[in-house]
Amino acid sequence: MSGPPTRDAAPGGGRGPRPPSGRPGAERLLRHLRRSPLLPVAEKVAAGERLSCEDGLALFATTDLTGLGRMANFVREARHGNRGYYNVNRYLNPTNLCWVDCGLCAWARLPGVPGGYTMAVEEAVAEASAGWHDGITEIHVVGGLHPTLPYDYYPGLLRALKARFPGVHLKAWTMVELDWIARIGKRDLVEVIRDLKAAGMDSCPGGGAEIFAKRVRDVICANKISGERWLEVARLCHLEGVPTNVTMLYGSVEDDAERVDHLLRIRELQDETGGFLGLIPLAFHPEGTQLAHLPPSTGLLDLKAVAVSRLLLDNVDHVKAYWVQIGEKLAQAALHFGADDLVGTVTEETITHAAGATTEAGISRAGMEALIRGAGREPFERDAFYERVVRDGSGRVLRANRHDFVPAGTAPPGGAALPSHPGSGLDTALASS
Ligand code: SF4
Repeated sequence: MSGPPTRDAAPGGGRGPRPPSGRPGAERLLRHLRRSPLLPVAEKVAAGERLSCEDGLALFATTDLTGLGRMANFVREARHGNRGYYNVNRYLNPTNLCWVDCGLCAWARLPGVPGGYTMAVEEAVAEASAGWHDGITEIHVVGGLHPTLPYDYYPGLLRALKARFPGVHLKAWTMVELDWIARIGKRDLVEVIRDLKAAGMDSCPGGGAEIFAKRVRDVICANKISGERWLEVARLCHLEGVPTNVTMLYGSVEDDAERVDHLLRIRELQDETGGFLGLIPLAFHPEGTQLAHLPPSTGLLDLKAVAVSRLLLDNVDHVKAYWVQIGEKLAQAALHFGADDLVGTVTEETITHAAGATTEAGISRAGMEALIRGAGREPFERDAFYERVVRDGSGRVLRANRHDFVPAGTAPPGGAALPSHPGSGLDTALASS
């Protein structure tokens, strides 16, 4: 792996005790950790100091899980109080055809393999309309790297979704997909980002970051863009005014140092651009993948990944606990280990479920609020920019995403959904061309 960024301060150890910063709860935190090997790190946390690579390694290696959780919770509550954020979103996966064939992926299909599908634009819009409920405020669009879809498909899909759902935030295309769209379109990446932004791309999902270290990518996603390229695409999005999310896929073949390196590279880019909205730690699900021989993540690692992310990423506002992947109960616990956001209601999740997730493929708004309340947090329905979604008494969205909501985007669409899965529409046409 390449070395971690070194702009951070010295490790927690090797210095005299620091006074607590006077931040509420700092003295209590230090009292709780006074006999913990993590005390030097806790002193930095209490004083609001940036943690180093060595601190990150100590946090991942610790057996003091409660001390780690207390530190992460201290930072989380200082930033977000008792709020537990969520949003009401829908997933849309326009195609699962992908030539990349990542070892980590149980969802995509190589072209020609049974189970592959691609939606024509009108099919994708119909699919987004199906299952419309609870006044969705965001559509999350990701798919495979389709070998033959034309460039115009991508802005065309965004324009069609915006026309159908004018008030809804479109979080579309990962950095991996943006790189691919530029390649198939033979266009400069900045031009692509501008085209897609003009067509309705409001922000981008954080997928495909995995672990940036080449040693890990060579095993889990050898044909995917490099970690350096992923960060470069994110940088260009941020510079073009498109905020993005970022993920960390943990629990496959990476070690602690590679996780810390991943987080510090995110922190370094965030220092430069401020464009990351939040980090989503993703637990690797081996079932159905080429790496099915690997054991699944443990609850211990799930909580550590959330807590260490919260502590190292002092410049990223939100650390999320993805309930679909780690389960509802552990996600509740994660709200006390540094996470502030349970992501969303995620109507129609398919990608993690293809790899064996046993959670529901979606949850209602009421169910999400009950989950957050059950964890002792106060539910806060956010929009894409973490502002409160305003609804009327019947649940109809009145305001989200920095504008008054367009009613056409909140009513259940009429008409029957078009067919949208294997063998439909576009792939049939492509196969016969
Ligand atoms: S993880 Fe993404 S790039 Fe890799 S095979 Fe799956 S869909 Fe394709």
